[in-house]
Amino acid sequence: MKILVINSGSSSIKYQLFEMPDKTVLTAGVVEKIGEEESTITHKVPPKNLKKSKTLPIANHQEGFDKILSLLTHAEYGVIDNPDDIDAVGHRVVHGGEKFNSAVIVNEEVKKQIEDLSFLAPLHNPPNLQGIEVASQFFQKAPQVAVFDTAFHQSMPASSYRYAIPDWLYKEHGIRVYGMHGTSHHYVAQQAANYLSKPLESLNLITIHLGNGCSMAAIQHGKCLDTSMGLSPLPGLIMGTRSGDIDPSVCYFLGTQLNMSFQEIDSLLNKESGLKGISGENDLRNIIARKDDGDRAAALALEMYSYRIKKYIGSYAAALGKLDAIIFTAGVGENSAYIREKVCNNLEILGIHLDSEKNKQRTTDILEIQQDDRLVKILVIPTNEELEIAQATMQLLKD
Ligand code: ADP
Repeated sequence: MKILVINSGSSSIKYQLFEMPDKTVLTAGVVEKIGEEESTITHKVPPKNLKKSKTLPIANHQEGFDKILSLLTHAEYGVIDNPDDIDAVGHRVVHGGEKFNSAVIVNEEVKKQIEDLSFLAPLHNPPNLQGIEVASQFFQKAPQVAVFDTAFHQSMPASSYRYAIPDWLYKEHGIRVYGMHGTSHHYVAQQAANYLSKPLESLNLITIHLGNGCSMAAIQHGKCLDTSMGLSPLPGLIMGTRSGDIDPSVCYFLGTQLNMSFQEIDSLLNKESGLKGISGENDLRNIIARKDDGDRAAALALEMYSYRIKKYIGSYAAALGKLDAIIFTAGVGENSAYIREKVCNNLEILGIHLDSEKNKQRTTDILEIQQDDRLVKILVIPTNEELEIAQATMQLLKD
């Protein structure tokens, strides 16, 4: 079964074609800078070890899909003969609000609901929907499936997802915690269960996704109990350019004392804060290198970043009661032994004992890095949101 996974953003379309159930990636690529003069398209064919990149103007998503389709069916770089060879298309959709707690087959009603939820994700849901619209024209025989980034977190109880603000703001305007990165948290949790040879429903886990965006989830008996992002991706951990948790009255201060507009405050907290705000840049590799050269701002940024994660581990361990494993994933979580060590340092009170030597090993597979078998497992698990979308799509079509 050939499943095409699409992540359609405002100026990019990422795609991966899987042969399922064997999970083989037939092609993977990305169209970037849509709408600009110098758009780029990068297309890889892993089984043939081929890669093609091109710079050309691509005016809109329709044209972007046109290019993707011609590459998919290309004599040399292609892997299918015609669009009908695609059995299903799985789409990443950022916000499913309270409407969607799992993947769904897209119909007119679902499209309308995704559109109606755009007020919660104005930058993401509209281009996600556009991707669905265009893909359904190109791949007419294939069912289109929406897989929501928020869905995994829908199992949270009200005590986790409500904000302590007046009730009507939730009831009339849907202001609550939704959480993001749900496909990644669920994927690595399931991988951990497979690795530990235990059913996911029997496990209590803390998943730590550290990419440019960072979030954590407390998972109880396989279900999300709490998560660190909220109504938007802004709260929780310190991220590349997002502040994470701050006193909300900072916004009031910025508006009243510094005359900043809502847009300026939003941009400051989302694009100029986090690691970038403290150290001047957001790439963790550079920040670690600068710290090694004695840069104090870089050292402070790393201290703050790790301390925030540690605080969340503590609070989630308390919420879960019993803890089977903590899982590090995404760019930083998978690659930075330094951050893992800093985060786990002094967490012995929770049964978390990192083995420094095991932590330094490198592999593209799962790493187990705690000191002893009996302790809380510390796992490094590569995330794969595209594969999670392909699996959810396949599962839905089977049921
Ligand atoms: P995205 O959220 O864009 O998918 P990624 O999961 O690719 O992001 O993570 C990007 C982050 O991972 C960057 O901050 C980058 O510096 C960091 N990163 C990647 N490799 C390493 C490494 N070896 N050591 C430290 N940080 C790394």
